[in-house]
Amino acid sequence: MMRYSAFSVFLQGLTGNKGWASAWGSPTPKSHYDVIIVGGGGHGLSTAYYLAKTFGFRNVAVLEKGYVGSGNVGRNTTIIRSNYLLPGNNPFYELSLKLWEGLEQDFNFNAMVSQRGVLNLYHSDGQRDDYARRGNAMRLHGVDAELLDREQVRKMVPFMDFDNARFPIQGGLLQRRGGTVRHDAVAWGYARGAASRGVDVIQHCEVTGIKRDGYRVIGVETSRGFIGCDKLALATAGNSSVVADLAGIRLPIESHVLQAFVSEGLKPFIDTVVTFGVGHFYISQSDKGGLVFGGDIDGYNSYAQRGNLAMVEHVAEAGVSMIPALARVRTLRSWGGIMDMSMDGSPIIDRTHLDNLYLNAGWCYGGFKATPASGYCFAHLIARNEPQETARAFRLDRFERGYAIDERGAGPMPNLH
Ligand SMILES: Cc1cc2nc3c(=O)[nH]c(=O)nc-3n(C[C@H](O)[C@H](O)[C@H](O)COP(=O)(O)OP(=O)(O)OC[C@H]3O[C@@H](n4cnc5c(N)ncnc54)[C@H](O)[C@@H]3O)c2cc1C
Repeated sequence: MMRYSAFSVFLQGLTGNKGWASAWGSPTPKSHYDVIIVGGGGHGLSTAYYLAKTFGFRNVAVLEKGYVGSGNVGRNTTIIRSNYLLPGNNPFYELSLKLWEGLEQDFNFNAMVSQRGVLNLYHSDGQRDDYARRGNAMRLHGVDAELLDREQVRKMVPFMDFDNARFPIQGGLLQRRGGTVRHDAVAWGYARGAASRGVDVIQHCEVTGIKRDGYRVIGVETSRGFIGCDKLALATAGNSSVVADLAGIRLPIESHVLQAFVSEGLKPFIDTVVTFGVGHFYISQSDKGGLVFGGDIDGYNSYAQRGNLAMVEHVAEAGVSMIPALARVRTLRSWGGIMDMSMDGSPIIDRTHLDNLYLNAGWCYGGFKATPASGYCFAHLIARNEPQETARAFRLDRFERGYAIDERGAGPMPNLH
């Protein structure tokens, strides 16, 4: 595999850019693999990458029904952060942020990791106390957090409506190490990194059945024929319940649509990520100049990758009440992705009751930031049959055992997390 460097860009420039090799190939599926990963999204590809790189597996396939980047990994609003309150979540997301910090050097791909900060606004005394508590919990875990007052926030984002809004801004919780990453480059970087270590990344290969012998999986039926495996790992995000059902497993997950929006290109306007504290609205600006923003999930179960106008109106309303100037901005495009909403809003990285079937699911609308740690921890579980330290709490049976990780405090209501 060709290594990317400033020198290779220079050299290719001199020779008409004709020497670039494909980032990954189009292998024909073998009849058997040590590990098959279903789902070529961020989590499936990062799992394959760490399985090969860290745990020395070579005979691995990633089966993707569409193309790499066609799922949520290429549909999200690119935000990364580790500003979590609960001990079950916080160390895991901090591990992820640390992996993001060295990722581009690690997989030799420009993923445009930009630590431009994530600022959560607060609008009342109660909310300030809540954010102070979260910030303190973060700092106790060694994670950076700063509680800003109104004037400090005004300095950072002066264009917001501080005084006349229905919910005046009082301040914010800032994580400076949070930010954005170019989402599809993450999928490409992991696919290339995995393929260069011998993993077969097989696109347009849908898993249609899971074949078992008692409590063991022996392989998968696919649109390209039967493929045998020693271990099967599911990382299909919004389609998790459908794919787990192929093995007769009913998951505590509902699928919902989440929409995102991009405006026309504007001059640099917002140099951080800001989230509204009284509605679910968040915004950043891409390097091309488009404002990237989104809000709540649509709130009904669906496998459609597009949403409804009611949520478009809701998002526009929240956006304009936070930044009145947005009313003059034209939206260029919008799209939707299917969210695997778990009952407590936290993910599952665990074994199942089948001996060699592993599950990675329940990422809700926050799984992009988890991509590196999710892949690393899932690879650890698959390789060693033991959970990685920071992912110990993400057990499938926590719902029946009463150990929910309810970061939002919304109870067993997937549409509210
Ligand atoms: C609009 C939107 C905004 C978001 N914003 C953020 C954000 O700012 N920050 C953040 O952290 N998270 C965000 N998320 C959530 C995040 O994108 C997801 O949680 C995460 O990408 C899910 O993991 P993944 O990348 O592996 O999923 P995907 O990319 O969806 O990968 C799953 C793959 O499985 C494949 N698959 C499904 N069934 C089969 C089958 N039978 N056979 C073979 N392959 C199959 C699918 O085609 C898909 O490619 C957002 C999501 C959306 C939709």
